Amino acid sequence: MTSNPLFSAINQDELHRRGLLFILSSPSGAGKSTIARMILESDEDISLSVSVTTRPPREGELDGVDYHFIDDAEFQALVDDNALLEWAHVFDHKYGTPKSAIKQGLKDGKDFLFDIDWQGTQQLYQRAEGDVVRVFILPPSIEQLNERLRKRGTDSEEVINRRMAKAKSEISHWDGYDFVVINDDVDACFDKVCEILHAERMRRARQTGLIDFVRDLTPPD
Ligand code: ADP
Ligand code: 5GP
Repeated sequence: MTSNPLFSAINQDELHRRGLLFILSSPSGAGKSTIARMILESDEDISLSVSVTTRPPREGELDGVDYHFIDDAEFQALVDDNALLEWAHVFDHKYGTPKSAIKQGLKDGKDFLFDIDWQGTQQLYQRAEGDVVRVFILPPSIEQLNERLRKRGTDSEEVINRRMAKAKSEISHWDGYDFVVINDDVDACFDKVCEILHAERMRRARQTGLIDFVRDLTPPD
């Protein structure tokens, strides 16, 4: 039984903590969007950082949910207004992370999931090193990667060939990440990514509520 007056029913999850920026990257087709979706469906404490992009929507993608789909002029206006935390050219289109919501959200203990490439990861890391957790997803083989891009059925033959041609250079960035997970079995990969997320939430530096808790645990004699 506890005699701590501030924390009479201790539930560590209720102590205040700073949020984190959880980045998932992979060569296109390795499964990062699939894993991201599974996390968002199963964990209400993390929300997707919805990027802006000049790419047209794929079938089934919703504006404001998967991306904010904007044109080149609108994208340039966001860059000029310094309204993006990071942005990059990927496959002929521009992609970027809006700043709004993230700064205050982190203070309020909200976690954000980023499905962004290695260029965006480097920029976010430079701007917010202590808040960033970088996870890279690898396919089990190049053949599997090719098969998954085809199975997804969202891209033309030409686009698939370009994504495959770029896979090698994308994979070469694997060593710029804190964690690397091979997506062979999707459920096993999801479990591993969840373990990383849960462990990162427990980092002392993020558990800002511990300061008061420990002070109260150890009153002066
Ligand atoms: P990315 O976001 O990395 O481009 P997706 O998540 O869109 O990749 O996955 C590409 C395709 O591969 C999708 O059709 C998805 O259902 C499938 N996929 C993802 N993970 C696996 C897996 N472990 N085994 C088989 N197929 C998978
Ligand atoms: P897709 O067109 O398949 O949705 O995404 C293509 C690539 O752009 C993926 O590698 C994805 O991670 C990346 N991407 C998506 N949003 C952003 C973003 O806001 N910033 C950066 N740097 N990359 C992004």
